[in-house]
Amino acid sequence: MDPRLEKLIEQSRSIVFFGGAGVSTESGVPDFRSVDGLYNQTYDYPPEVILSHDFFVQHTEEFFRFYRDKLIVRGAKPNPAHLRLAALEKEGKLKAVITQNIDGLHQAAGSRNVLELHGSIHRNFCTRCGKSYTLDQIAQGTGVPRCSCGAVIKPDVVLYGEGLDQMVLSRAVRSLQQADLLIVGGTSLSVYPAAGLLDYYGGRELVLINKTETPADKRATLVIRRPIGEVLGL
Ligand SMILES: [Zn+2]
Repeated sequence: MDPRLEKLIEQSRSIVFFGGAGVSTESGVPDFRSVDGLYNQTYDYPPEVILSHDFFVQHTEEFFRFYRDKLIVRGAKPNPAHLRLAALEKEGKLKAVITQNIDGLHQAAGSRNVLELHGSIHRNFCTRCGKSYTLDQIAQGTGVPRCSCGAVIKPDVVLYGEGLDQMVLSRAVRSLQQADLLIVGGTSLSVYPAAGLLDYYGGRELVLINKTETPADKRATLVIRRPIGEVLGL
């Protein structure tokens, strides 16, 4: 808890939270950009290559080996940051959570208006007929998951080389335009489109909670360099 942040929250009526991988690492979900680091490399390609649209199409089996191994994290639970944001939404203060994470932990905490910029591991669709599959159905199998119609099932996760969902993006922009307090947490704001989205924020107060420096630090009302669960938790 941070008294300066609590004061800003108290004064605000329309809070938007924008979060990245750092929000989930405190729930034990590793940042996939670092999961197969130089020192424990078990894949022939870096995560950015494996998690690309072209790789999904050309090396589907290897894609799913990595995906099941690194992106599907079993047993992760919401941490105090997720829970506090859900509580603020219930109080009517927080209007939206915009997240770069795909793990569904905000919804697990009770948040309802969650704008998932990069999709979710919890939704999976047949690439031919569109039939929907659960996370368990993808996680439990081996090899390439296939629909009853025979086609490949694709997680509803935005891969490198794929565009963002325009509907999600425009809802994120609208919520940022209407906000009077923006709390950014667990992101270094280096991944597209995070940094650019921030430009739509028209409110006065900007709070940044991140362990390292971000390009937006200069614009911020308040910069907090502590674990986000500790800062947002009560
Ligand atoms: Zn199908």
